Formats: sequence, structure tokens, C-alpha cells
Amino acid sequence: MKPYSSARDEYSGSASVFLDANENPFNDPLNRYPDPQQTLLKQRIAKLKGLPEAYVFLGNGSDEGIDLLFRVLCEPGRDHVITVDPSYGMYAVCAEMNNVERRSVLLKSDFSLDPDAVLAAVDEDTSLIFLCSPNNPTSNSLEREAMVKIIDGVNCMVVVDEAYIDFSKGPGLLSMLQEKKNLVILQTLSKAWGLAGIRLGMLFAHPELLAYISRVKYPYNISGLTIEAALRGLDDIEQKDKWIKEILEQRSKMATELESLPYVRRVYASDANFLLIKVDDPSAVYEFLMNKGIIIRDRSSVPLCEGCLRITVGTGEENRDLLSALKIFQP
Ligand SMILES: *Cc1c(COP(=O)(O)O)cnc(C)c1O
Repeated sequence: MKPYSSARDEYSGSASVFLDANENPFNDPLNRYPDPQQTLLKQRIAKLKGLPEAYVFLGNGSDEGIDLLFRVLCEPGRDHVITVDPSYGMYAVCAEMNNVERRSVLLKSDFSLDPDAVLAAVDEDTSLIFLCSPNNPTSNSLEREAMVKIIDGVNCMVVVDEAYIDFSKGPGLLSMLQEKKNLVILQTLSKAWGLAGIRLGMLFAHPELLAYISRVKYPYNISGLTIEAALRGLDDIEQKDKWIKEILEQRSKMATELESLPYVRRVYASDANFLLIKVDDPSAVYEFLMNKGIIIRDRSSVPLCEGCLRITVGTGEENRDLLSALKIFQP
């Protein structure tokens, strides 16, 4: 497939008169199409992550990366993907959108990963396996050895979604990327970096795969405003680290207080910026909070999450509001 060649793809250098793209010459700088390769931003991210630039792909959120993996790697009607559930809903949505069968393997009841169960579901038509660590909505990280066993035991691509890795105690799998050709890692600016509004997802993988993905993406998938805001955000690592520290402190405080509520059966150990809790009557708690203007996520209909609610860790003030509401809830 010959990709669309944009005006800015064909030229790199330092010209001063741009009459090639039918842009409006006024309204600088927003009149100009952004860099379709996002070279500057990729350089910054590669440096930050300790990777060669050729291993970095940027998408309109992780969601674009997930969709492009389906479009590039799966033959609809023939191939299938494997998800390990419960997990992030977007894998299933993209599978359906792309008419690709999805086989679901459950986590163990303690939310740990059973690598042999995943390997048993793999056959020659498996094209992608999705692992999410730390996992949404269960909030735990998957064991490193179990993930590696899967990566080493298959011929297909294994995607490890690390959207919450900055909150995790563990380092994630990025350091293995260059030695494992079938590993794809997703990270995002939407969580720890506080930039969900700009939509910037990072997909790290072998350059050979990225060459295919880059051909299929829309030419200007990352806007100029996003590139600029991302560069600015990535400049302030201290700010991000401060946010993470504050969120982790709030998380542990919130976990302790939630555990003291009589109708809370369990607060699961979290390695992310949210807590999964098990309560007696999840929909009653959910509606009670909603009527007080506090929105959380009811995950009680998700397999293995019976009775469970997912609560994002907010600011100290927001968490206080949540807890004072929960204290007056009458089961
Ligand atoms: C929030 C989240 C993302 C982030 O998606 P973006 O499109 O980058 O905002 C990715 N994966 C998981 C599991 C998430 O929970």
C-alpha cells in the first residue's frame, strides 16, 4: 500500500516560503498543518523513555494505537485476538468495529494472570494478545514472569497496556522492548501527566511494525495544539512526579477510610490511581453518590467484579466529599 503523501512529508529542510499545501497564509501558527511525523515530540519522548526514536509511534490517545493494531495486524473473519478479562473495554470495542473475533480468557479469581490459560487459547490464527498492567478495572499489576512467559511462548504480537505504569511500584516492560520483537507497549499522557484533554497516546514497538502502522494512520493524526501542549507538559517532570506522589498518598488514605465503612467488604490492593472496592449493594451506593453529584464507576456487572465499584483518586477535597457522603449512606 502506498500511503498518502502529505505536502510536509516530501520536504524537510529550512525553507521560508510555504506555498505547497493550500494553507491560509494568515493566522500564524495555527494556519499551518502540523508535522505528520511529530519528529520533535517523538525525539523528546524517546529520550525520556530511553528508547531509539524508531521505536516510538504517537496516536490520538492510546485508543488510536489499539485500533491501528487491529487494522494492520488482523485479517477480519479469519484472525482472532485474545483479551484477558476483566480489562479495558476498548479492546473489545475495537475488535467488534474491525470485525475481528475476540477470545476472552479470565484472570484468576485473585486477579492474577494465568499464562498457561492464555497460551492454551492461542492457535495459528491468533494475531494479538492484550494484557493490561496495572490492569483496569482490577487495579493490580500482572506478574512480570507470567507476562514474559506469554510473550516468549507465542509467535503473535503481545500488547501490554501500561496506561497506569507511572503509579506502579514496578518498572513495567519497556526495558525488554528491544529484545522482544513481538512486544508492543502502550502508554499515555492521559493519566499521570494530567493531559487526557490533548489526546496523546504512545505506542512503543519494533520499527518494522511501526512502519506499517505509520502507513495506515491519518496523515495529521496529532494536532499542532497537542504537540505543543505535550512538549510543554513533558518539560515539567517534577510537576508530574509531585502529582503522582500526592495521588498515591491520597490513595492510601482513601483505602484506609473505605475499609472502615461497614458495608465495604473489600478494598483491593491498587497499583494505579484508582481503587476497586467490593460492597454489599453496588448499585445503591452508585446511585446514592450520583444523587450527591459524585460520579464513580459501577463495575459490578463485569466478570469477577461482582459487587465492585471503581473509584478514581481525586484531590484531597474531592476524596473528602466522597468519604463524607459514603459515611452517611444507609445500606
Ligand atoms: C485510561 C486508559 C487508557 C488511556 O487511553 P487514552 O486513549 O490514551 O486516553 C488506555 N488504557 C487503559 C487500560 C486505560 O484505562
